[in-house]
Amino acid sequence: MDIEQIGKDALEEIKSAQTLEALDSVRVRYLGRKGLITNFLKELASLPAEERKTKGRQANLVKTELSTHFETRKARLETEQESASSQTQFDLTLPGRKSWLGNAHPITKVLQEIVEILVGMGFEEKLGPEIETEFYNYTALNFPEDHPARDQIACFYLDDKHLLRSHTSPVQIRVMEKEKPPIRIIAPGRVYRPDAFDASHSPVFYQVEGLYVDENVTLAELKGTLEVFCRRMFGEQVKVRFSPSYFPFTEPSAEVAISCVICEGAGCKTCKNTGWLEILGAGMVHPAVFENVGYDSEKYSGFAFGMGVERVAMIKYRIDDIRLFYENDIRFIKQF
Ligand SMILES: [Zn+2]
Repeated sequence: MDIEQIGKDALEEIKSAQTLEALDSVRVRYLGRKGLITNFLKELASLPAEERKTKGRQANLVKTELSTHFETRKARLETEQESASSQTQFDLTLPGRKSWLGNAHPITKVLQEIVEILVGMGFEEKLGPEIETEFYNYTALNFPEDHPARDQIACFYLDDKHLLRSHTSPVQIRVMEKEKPPIRIIAPGRVYRPDAFDASHSPVFYQVEGLYVDENVTLAELKGTLEVFCRRMFGEQVKVRFSPSYFPFTEPSAEVAISCVICEGAGCKTCKNTGWLEILGAGMVHPAVFENVGYDSEKYSGFAFGMGVERVAMIKYRIDDIRLFYENDIRFIKQF
């Protein structure tokens, strides 16, 4: 065999060896005790003296060259292996890190559900500012000048004219000022009242307001709308009860209750043994409100309703303390 060819083959294999183990097996194959070059040198013994001398020198040259290449390649592979192992050192026995999936806050979820049901019934979503003037929050809604709700202690005044809205009803006025009937809107949003923060009160909470104005809107339509809403929200089995109430901006006004979803009317702690849970305030829009926005109260009639989102969520999820919604304890909110 030609020693130069053996040398070339060996060099190719040295270059292409990707691990120290592969490189070592190349070394054994060529330079080991039974390696190709070692064998070649042994076979020289049977050759004539002159030829033996020339080929012997050639072979030793190849051997020395290859040894150098082996050492260089070995050093290179060792460096590579070292840096690779420092990058990929990991403990296979460590438990994996779970990716944490968030979810919507229960109030957001219930709010979205309320909006979805009412939008499905033809109401359009409208938003209004949280900082209101006395005019929009009270005057236009037919609150008399001496109404107790206007008191400094009954709402958050920012200055003489501005306050944090105490209900979402001002959105009714803002929409009616801009648009002509028929109007069919809902206004979800945050409202503010200086209430003590206890199991059933929060100084900030959410409301959803509804308003429908057209010619010949009747109380029967209000009842029908709210009955459908309550059944979709709380289940087909719930009964809906209207009882007389008072709000400055509606006449007649009603307090709307559903049959208790916990005891189904038998009486329990949640419904204070009445069998009913108050859920909404509603009524026919007061003619004075129409006059305030420039509508002809002889021509148009309408109904309005409003509900507290936290109250709906508390009934739906059977939660007895409103503060749980705001403390944001992950153990609580991740359940929804
Ligand atoms: Zn009950």
